[in-house]
This record gives sequence, C-alpha cells and structure tokens, in this order.
Amino acid sequence: MIYRTPGYCRDFRCIAGDCRDSCCKGWEIDIDSDTCGFYMSVDGEFGERLRKSIRDSSFLLTEDERCPFLNAQGLCDIYTELGEENLCQICSDHPRYFEWFGTFKEGGIGLCCEAAARLILSSPFSLCEEDIPYESASGDYDEELLSLLLDVRSEMFAVLTDETIPLAEALCRVLNIAADAQQYIDVPAAESPKTGSTDGLSAVFSCLEELEPIDEHWLPYIRGCRERLKTAPAADSAHLPYLRRIALYLIFRYLLKSVYDGRVLSFAKFAAFSVIVISALYRCKAAEGYCGFEECADIAKDYSKEVEYSDENMAKLLELLDSSPYFSCELLKELLRDGI
Ligand code: SF4
Repeated sequence: MIYRTPGYCRDFRCIAGDCRDSCCKGWEIDIDSDTCGFYMSVDGEFGERLRKSIRDSSFLLTEDERCPFLNAQGLCDIYTELGEENLCQICSDHPRYFEWFGTFKEGGIGLCCEAAARLILSSPFSLCEEDIPYESASGDYDEELLSLLLDVRSEMFAVLTDETIPLAEALCRVLNIAADAQQYIDVPAAESPKTGSTDGLSAVFSCLEELEPIDEHWLPYIRGCRERLKTAPAADSAHLPYLRRIALYLIFRYLLKSVYDGRVLSFAKFAAFSVIVISALYRCKAAEGYCGFEECADIAKDYSKEVEYSDENMAKLLELLDSSPYFSCELLKELLRDGI
C-alpha cells in the first residue's frame, strides 16, 4: 500500500513543555480499549493514580479542563512513567491524521497544533510517497468517483502551487474546478442563488458566531474582530504564502472525503471560506499593531481548533456553505477578489 503525506510531516516534533496551547487541555480524551485495559492493570502508586483518573474510558479532566497527567512543566506523566509506547492511541497519534482509501493511505499533521501550524505555514507544499507493505485496508466507495476526485485534486494542486497565479484567482479557479466536477457527480450540491449582498464578510462572521465555541475566548474574539474589520488595514501581501499553504493543506486533507458523499464543491468552498476568514483575522491582528509569522500561525491554529477540529461545527459549516445565499460560488469569489 502507498502512504502519501505532505513533505513537512517528517519534520514534525511535539514541543511538549514549550507548547503555549497544549492539546492536553480543553479536549475530552478517549482511551482505546487495549490501552485502557493495560492502565487498569498497572501496579503500585502510579497504577492507583491511573485508576482514579479514568472514568468510562476517558481521562477525568481537572476543573480547568487539563488532562490529569499533564504536569506543571507541561509534560505528560504517563509518558515519563510508562514510556511513549504506552500512550493511548489518540495521544500517540495527535496531531497526525490518517485516511484509508483501499489501495492507498494518506495522512498529515493537523493545523490545530501549534508546532504543526508553524510547519504548515512555513513549508512549501509537496507530497511524499512511501510503500507500507505491512498495512492493508478496504473502503466502501465508488472507485470511479475516487479516480475522478484524484484528478480534480491534482488539478487544484497545480493551480494553487503555481505562484504566478495570484492566490485569490487560484482559489476562484479551484471553485470553478469543483463546480465542474460536481456536475459529473450524481449528488449535485445545492448551489444557492446570488443575493447581491454588499457585506459578505459580515455574513462570514455571522456564520462563525453560529458555531459552537470550543474555547471561551473565541466568541468574544470573533465579535471584536468583526468590529475592528471596519477600520482594519488592507490585506498584507506578506501573508499570502501562508494563506496559500493553508489552502493546500485543506484541499489535501478534505477533498477526497467527498468520495463518501459526493460533496466536492462543499469541501472546495470550505477551503475558500477558511482562507477568507483567516485573512480577515490577520488584518484584525495587524490593526492592533503587528501580525508576523508567529501571529499568523497562532491565528490559523485557533481557527482550526474551533472549526476544523469540531465534528459538529464542521457539519454545520458545510451545511451553511451548501445552503446559505451568502456562500454561493460567485459571492465567495467576490470576497476572495476583494479581501485577500
Ligand atoms: S498541541 Fe502539538 S506541540 Fe502542543 S503538546 Fe500537542 S502535539 Fe505537542
């Protein structure tokens, strides 16, 4: 089986104690059954601590929503006491993600992690392949559709990696490619009529406010940005390479998922929508004084955490992108051309 990943993945290292927004805080952590069984069998004082800190195969988070094994230095006590090989599946995988398509497997690192976000924004996009003969998988999907989607995605990569094409234009072409592909697929996306709205960015922010916040600071932050946008400076061209790499990350990670539901246009819209939002958030940060690389990586990470890493929010957003009159391809293209 072929395993395909973006080239930057091999440089990923968790920064553990130096992480400002550890993934061991604020998330429910489910423990796979093998590891949970092992934790229940550990002897001594540490075994006792494990048993007291696990309920219904999840770690019992502290009042401030930290994993009970995340110590004051930002390190994991299970890692230190039992070794890396005894972390549960989710802790040893995160922020890596994987997807199996029968004859090949794809994976990468998620933008919601601070160290991964820095790599994604700073590394030119390229894909690496390796043979993994010891793995196999089968999927229940239409082979013909998968082959079409692979061609569609390659076409999108060619447009997005061509730096002679301005990013806004490249994303408009990505939407066109997706709209054309959608016509060949049996599940047509509901494409809403254009409303002629002049304040599409306001609709984008209203949509974000409809999602379920993950971090308590997110909603006030988004509301504040919406206000600041009225006086924020124009987009800074120094941010364009970061936004281009975010678009490539999203297309790589999500486009093939439409093999299960045929919603190729929805996933292309999601990439365009995300770039519009993140670009607007960069402008807001610049309005406060400065938005350099670290700030850009941080903003992209927070967006990913709130939107991409919540199944509920992703489902709701894809639904809105399909049905809201504010998110027709034409209006998204206008927002791209006017705003990034
Ligand atoms: S968010 Fe990333 S860098 Fe931070 S602790 Fe988790 S894996 Fe490590």
